[in-house]
Amino acid sequence: MKTFLRYDISVQTKQYPFKAPREIEELSQELFLKCSKYSIVDQTMLLLVPIDVPEYNLIMKFKSDYPEYTSKLVIYEHKYSKKEIEEAEFLLLKSKSMVILQNNKVRFEKCCEKGKFSGKQINSFIINKNQFQNKVISGTNVYRYLVSIEAKEKLEETEISNIIFIPVYSVNNSELVAYQIEVQSLLQSLEPYNNWGIYKKCENCGKILSNTKHNFPQPFMIPKDYMKDLKDFNATSEVFTELASRYYIISKKMYKTLQILNAKKLICEPIKFID
Ligand SMILES: [Zn+2]
Repeated sequence: MKTFLRYDISVQTKQYPFKAPREIEELSQELFLKCSKYSIVDQTMLLLVPIDVPEYNLIMKFKSDYPEYTSKLVIYEHKYSKKEIEEAEFLLLKSKSMVILQNNKVRFEKCCEKGKFSGKQINSFIINKNQFQNKVISGTNVYRYLVSIEAKEKLEETEISNIIFIPVYSVNNSELVAYQIEVQSLLQSLEPYNNWGIYKKCENCGKILSNTKHNFPQPFMIPKDYMKDLKDFNATSEVFTELASRYYIISKKMYKTLQILNAKKLICEPIKFID
């Protein structure tokens, strides 16, 4: 695994009151020159820097020295070799493909009477059939995953554990076009190992509506002791948006099954097991 920071080191030069003084703008330009071999967009000074090079520390220092002028958008990316992915026992489910739900038909429960959406989905998804054509698995704009009818059959055939299938219908004629995949039971809390914290709570009932997203230099972590509790299809008990999006973790068996079906846009990341 190699971890990279994606970060734009340009400073605010326009908007009052955060316009950076001239000398800080110059510092950012100097820093950019030092890091230029990691530039991916010169105009905006966007960098993709490995976290184990000295330039990474320079960037983080610059960011902490001038928090009022520098970007708060810190994104970490983990790149894995084919071998690491092939050998992983469990992987974080990710897909480059996305289907947009025909949204006013999707309803979620609220946390309490005066509260906000808390993400318990109360009806089937409706999609535009064309968007899912020729796909095996796809993410959605509400962070759930859909699989094809063929994939559902194959996942059942290979006896993938802890999975349920919820029908997804086409917007035009209510034809069955895919299945949403969900878990039967959730994992125990992984918060202590991943420091997700609380992003949003309901002011009225106190329910946690959202934890912070996993965007750290370290990969997604699970204690080794938990491995025996993992099924083929798993979801975190923590949620990461007010629509209660979760992280889904799949076993090697489920990953291979999706690969046999030729799911091209899977970009799963190995889970790190810790002592
Ligand atoms: Zn509430």
